[in-house]
Amino acid sequence: MQDFGQILAQRLNSEPFNYINGEAIKGASALLDVWNPATGGVIAQVPDADTGVVGLAVAAAQTAHKDGRWRNLRPADREAILLRFASLIEHNAELLAQLETLEQGKSINLSRMFGPAASVQWLRFAAGLITKPIGDTVSSSLPGGPGAWTAFTRREPIGVVAGIVPWNFPTLIAMWKIAPALAAGCTLVLKPSETTPLTALYLAELASEAGVPPGVFNVVTGRGATCGRALTEHPTVRKISFTGSTAVGRQIGLSAMERMARVTLELGGKNAAIVCKDADFDKVIQGLGAAAFINQGQVCAAASRIYVERDAKRQLVEALEAVIKSMRAGSGMDAEAQINPVASKVHQERVKGFVDQAKSAGASIIEGCSVPEEGYFVPPALVLDPGEDVKLTREEVFGPILTINEVNSVDEAIARTNDSPLGLAASIWTRDIDVAMRSVGSIEAGTIWVNSHVWIDPAMPFGGYKQSGVGRDFGAQWLDGFSELKSICIAH
Ligand code: NDP
Repeated sequence: MQDFGQILAQRLNSEPFNYINGEAIKGASALLDVWNPATGGVIAQVPDADTGVVGLAVAAAQTAHKDGRWRNLRPADREAILLRFASLIEHNAELLAQLETLEQGKSINLSRMFGPAASVQWLRFAAGLITKPIGDTVSSSLPGGPGAWTAFTRREPIGVVAGIVPWNFPTLIAMWKIAPALAAGCTLVLKPSETTPLTALYLAELASEAGVPPGVFNVVTGRGATCGRALTEHPTVRKISFTGSTAVGRQIGLSAMERMARVTLELGGKNAAIVCKDADFDKVIQGLGAAAFINQGQVCAAASRIYVERDAKRQLVEALEAVIKSMRAGSGMDAEAQINPVASKVHQERVKGFVDQAKSAGASIIEGCSVPEEGYFVPPALVLDPGEDVKLTREEVFGPILTINEVNSVDEAIARTNDSPLGLAASIWTRDIDVAMRSVGSIEAGTIWVNSHVWIDPAMPFGGYKQSGVGRDFGAQWLDGFSELKSICIAH
């Protein structure tokens, strides 16, 4: 029997493949390297899929959609296959978690929790929706009265879905495309980020093993500007589910409208946390310490700017300074390290660029623990009251950098929170229920937490106001975005 290390090494060293029509398609003409962010070393290679390969994957998905091999299964049978898929993920959780840490850099603790374990939770939630009632009976007012007509609605799978996944949570965000598409009876072509493609390929193999028919779930690996673009602009693709930057989301949305393809866009955030002077400070420090620095801040809903009432500022800054100074930096495979590398060299340079610009604009910066020279590390930092000339005041950094801004009142904090083109999430920290309830109604964001931040749940719809996105994921209506609604009207 092979040991775990051998199985992991075999996966990393296997001949590069795309996963199309239930098979690993090898013999790629061009390859991309996959790096370990903790060392900067190459750990695997994957195909750099071109337009032709994307076309093959879309054709396989379209054939599987047309012949009904998936959508025409009894709902209970589709549900059973997806539940088996969830069990296989659970069974192979450690391998998935280690692949995620090796390709993305985050702590193995987080990979275990927010990779396989959370993916299983979201997959089981979506699978459960398959057998629940959908559609309405309609009380029409047509001539002849209700006895002359029966009208109702039904939902039909939309067809081929393109899922575009970023690099911050490669397993879980892939699942946020796979689970609703397959539960709704659609077929899927998934493109992981070129930075983190290994987990998605493994998920496709596990889905086949669970009984998902060939062609229903395909994975193509390649660069966003070529492979991703070919996929999202493919005329056969009826729906695009995208998570990533606002810039690319806007481009995809515009091109989708050319052919009226449906889109869900889950984009960036510049998420505020409003800390009132009456807040429970132990909860604030624990909650915001985690919400700002988890996964090195590479979380779309991360707390990235704090607005704190003047009387509480000093206490907050001192406590958060102690948190970031006491952190230990190290590889994600070191379970004790709290600060790990960011996902890529390009991203490391981007985040450091924000900090350098803030320094040269004279911002007051408190740096946390020191970090290793090798690998893509960025030290955690607090930036105090940055002005408008500091880029990170308004732009999403997606790194371990938190701004702390003093305000005179909660109203000022809400006004500054809303003064942003983004509106993904926010939090308010107070013991006063009146202040909390007034704030949740006034803040322009898709999710508002009170006395917590960053917690998500498959039953709780998630998505952005303003330029943070279009549409919502999760919740009881999650599958609606992957189906067309049809009205049926029968005269009798
Ligand atoms: P991108 O938006 O560039 O990438 C997200 C995904 O889209 C990746 O799979 C990427 O592929 C793909 N992609 C890129 N260009 C295209 C295109 N023209 N057509 C189709 N697909 C495309 O984000 P980045 O990875 O560059 O990250 C930049 C910033 O985006 C971050 O700093 C952060 O601000 C934000 N972001 C937000 C996330 C969120 O969860 N809301 C997640 C990740 C990033 P590839 O990686 O192979 O280029």
